[in-house]
Amino acid sequence: MTIAESTVFETLESNVRGYCRSWPTVFDTARGAWLTDENGKDYLDFFAGAGTLNYGHNNPVLKQALLDYLIGDGITHGLDMSTVAKRRLLESFRDLILTPRGLDYKVQFPGPTGANAVEAALKLARKVTGRTTVLNFTNAFHGMTLGALSVTGNAAKRAGAGVPLVHATPMPYDGYLEEPEDLSWMRRALDDSSSGLDKPAAVIVETVQGEGGVNVARAEWLRQLAELCAVRGILLIVDDVQMGCGRTGPFFSFEIAGITPDIVTLSKSIGGYGLPMALVLMRRELDQWAPGEHNGTFRGNNAAFVTAEVALRHYWSDDRLETATLAKGERVHRHLATLAAAHTGVSTRGRGLVQGLVFEDASQATKVCRVAFEHGLLVETSGSCDEVVKLLPPLTVTDDEITHGLGILTRAVDIVRD
Ligand code: PMP
Repeated sequence: MTIAESTVFETLESNVRGYCRSWPTVFDTARGAWLTDENGKDYLDFFAGAGTLNYGHNNPVLKQALLDYLIGDGITHGLDMSTVAKRRLLESFRDLILTPRGLDYKVQFPGPTGANAVEAALKLARKVTGRTTVLNFTNAFHGMTLGALSVTGNAAKRAGAGVPLVHATPMPYDGYLEEPEDLSWMRRALDDSSSGLDKPAAVIVETVQGEGGVNVARAEWLRQLAELCAVRGILLIVDDVQMGCGRTGPFFSFEIAGITPDIVTLSKSIGGYGLPMALVLMRRELDQWAPGEHNGTFRGNNAAFVTAEVALRHYWSDDRLETATLAKGERVHRHLATLAAAHTGVSTRGRGLVQGLVFEDASQATKVCRVAFEHGLLVETSGSCDEVVKLLPPLTVTDDEITHGLGILTRAVDIVRD
């Protein structure tokens, strides 16, 4: 049965839907890097729940921990009460992630989604600085709620949402331009009093723009951006919702530049098991929230605390996952480079296990995803014109699965370009 034949989806569900149209089948079960539909057809998942499944579907270690917790009548919903599960998570996050990296952040649980984290980060930056505007980047994506959408640098995504809630001025992003970007535009606009630009509360940036088309900012550019902000007293928010939790190799994607952002947002894979969870990390002195000033009901998903904590202990007690991710990423990148070299108008870019195949003729990217789906591989497009096929496999993907997935992708490109 396809979605089109399945009347309950057509008659009951709102039209606010995307993936069911890209992948017209009804999925049922999932394991590791594989999804199975209700007809028993397997699909290799190089999409990983939009980056929520860095450790794969139904990861056995995390599943067992979750089952044990539930069988032991562990608390699932907890608002922001203190719980044992939360304490364990905070301790592991401090001991395994923050302390070894010399980071001294306070941690906030802003709600279940990435957009919740971005909203809290923007609100905090405005509160702490007393300023209201934000600088963002061309092609950035930060979420679909009104504040997060206001700093999303894609006019098509903002269309129809009305007046932005945050006044944001998009600046040129390094990895988006043909030439390396040197921040001179931003520097000049900030320092020239006749430019008309208000001094912003914050700059919000992704180190690699995932939704924006796998645009990769250079480490040196990120360093200069951090310095530019520090010198002028502007807060630097790194949105690590998609690129954090090891996607680009290190736990935080900004580690490559050796910078310490003022505020960091995390979500997607931080819950470990695909369970909803988000974090805002803030420099200790920025924690100026009054008790209850930014609260909400679903901020304490203790089941997610359990899987998040076990994921940290299991995968981040040493550098094995980082090393493996970089090696796998390199392998995928080499394959894509060869593929691109065999076709005119195709190129590749990426970092770690987020890799993109870029098509000058954007329509071909969508076609490649469709053919890949038919052959049992899930990949999605990204970029302002959907011109990039984005590969985002679980970090736990095996070498054989990479071979299999790249084989399907290569065939799909050949078919589309034939
Ligand atoms: N920031 C970034 C960088 C993202 O990639 C996303 C989601 N793709 C978000 C924020 C929003 O996260 P969510 O969809 O969970 O609200």
